[in-house]
Amino acid sequence: MASAPRRTKFVLDEDRTPRTWYNVVADLLPKGIAPVPPIHPGTGQPIGPEDLAPLFPMALIMQEVSADREIEIPDPVRDAYMLYRPSPLQRAYRLERALDTPAHIYFKYEGVSPAGSHKPNTALAQAFYNKEAGVKRLATETGAGQWGSALAFAGAVFGLEVKVYMVRASYDQKPYRRILMETYGASVVASPSPDTNYGRKLLAETPDTPGSLGIAITEAVEDAAGRDDTKYSLGSVLNHVMLHQTVIGQESIEQMQMAGEEPDVIIACAGGGSNFAGLVFPWVGRMLRGEGSHRVIAAEPEAAPSLTRGVYTYDFGDTGHLTPIVKMHTLGSEFIPEPIHAGGLRYHGMAPLVSLLKENGLIDARSVHQRACFEAGVRFARTEGILPAPESTHAIKVAIDEALEAKERGESRVILFNLSGHGHFDLSSYEKYLRGGLEDYEYPAERVAESLASLPKVGG
Ligand SMILES: *Cc1c(COP(=O)(O)O)cnc(C)c1O
Repeated sequence: MASAPRRTKFVLDEDRTPRTWYNVVADLLPKGIAPVPPIHPGTGQPIGPEDLAPLFPMALIMQEVSADREIEIPDPVRDAYMLYRPSPLQRAYRLERALDTPAHIYFKYEGVSPAGSHKPNTALAQAFYNKEAGVKRLATETGAGQWGSALAFAGAVFGLEVKVYMVRASYDQKPYRRILMETYGASVVASPSPDTNYGRKLLAETPDTPGSLGIAITEAVEDAAGRDDTKYSLGSVLNHVMLHQTVIGQESIEQMQMAGEEPDVIIACAGGGSNFAGLVFPWVGRMLRGEGSHRVIAAEPEAAPSLTRGVYTYDFGDTGHLTPIVKMHTLGSEFIPEPIHAGGLRYHGMAPLVSLLKENGLIDARSVHQRACFEAGVRFARTEGILPAPESTHAIKVAIDEALEAKERGESRVILFNLSGHGHFDLSSYEKYLRGGLEDYEYPAERVAESLASLPKVGG
């Protein structure tokens, strides 16, 4: 008898692109788990929709506070999604064989988007709602350049000007990401820049600063708050960003059904938390509704381990303290992580919704060192052929550890992870790894303690 043909790719037709985003808040509330409202940095009071209006269009603010389970994806956004969605789910047979593991390893591949990561899933939605509201120009920050490229692409799709404040260190080290943004039509400056008050102040004090994500956010927020034609756009952390990313997890549920398997463990890397939320929230929703049971793991860098080592408290999202104060796992807004190559994971905080799930025991987190991650990334490239983004190697490392543990215990185990992006613009970090020049950074306990000493005082 012939055995069933082996399937590597689980591909959905483009008309299976989700029609709604999934809001996990709707399934948390019946369990008595409620999101904590943000606090105004000036008044110390909970903020209302009007407080956010200078920065975001009202449609996004309403999504930020929504408790509806499903939110319809506007047709123009869904049409743009179809440039690259649904993304493939693949079984990593060759990696399984190399590990000699009984585990089945599946990955959802978001590197097929034009910008090379999951980030266009929210960039397209944000550009659309801004355009609808009559906004002409968006200001944003970017670290490694993934988010800047995604928003530059979305600006080109919906006809908006885009101004990107790019962290100085990346601006100097990663010219190709900058050129991609400029090709899409965005203007890019190194941050801190002479274009904002905050940037000019920092440049006067420390002319050779490498910058940081927290600083670039302050500059972009100042830009947007100071101009009527401009709003601000953030690529992670906020509730509406988590929401837009849930197309990933919804597709993966359908694709795992095609594969005829249920994941025992679901893994994604976490910087601000958006690709993690995107993959896992729809699965967590099934758990909350009693339709399934999975272990869920966020993989984060040892150099910026907000979920595993941070405190769950109120903190600022940026270094200049212009943003609302939110309750999240944080290392302190003044903490500047070591220059690990996974630039997208170098953030002091974690999305409030991801933090809330962690605090309630619905998800786990693990921190990993960058050299072990690159080793896992190279192993993945040599077996599956895809060169992963340095951020995504954190998920691969944890997936491999899970597969090896299953082998040790002689257990079957179904593993699903998110491959959040490709690493084609990160080759210089691979070169460093291959030449033995990458270092690991210990968890900087002292600097975190210093940074946490300046947390905002909220409530009494
Ligand atoms: C930005 C980025 C991340 C980290 O951001 P999250 O909001 O935590 O998803 C991870 N992977 C890739 C490829 C990225 O570009």
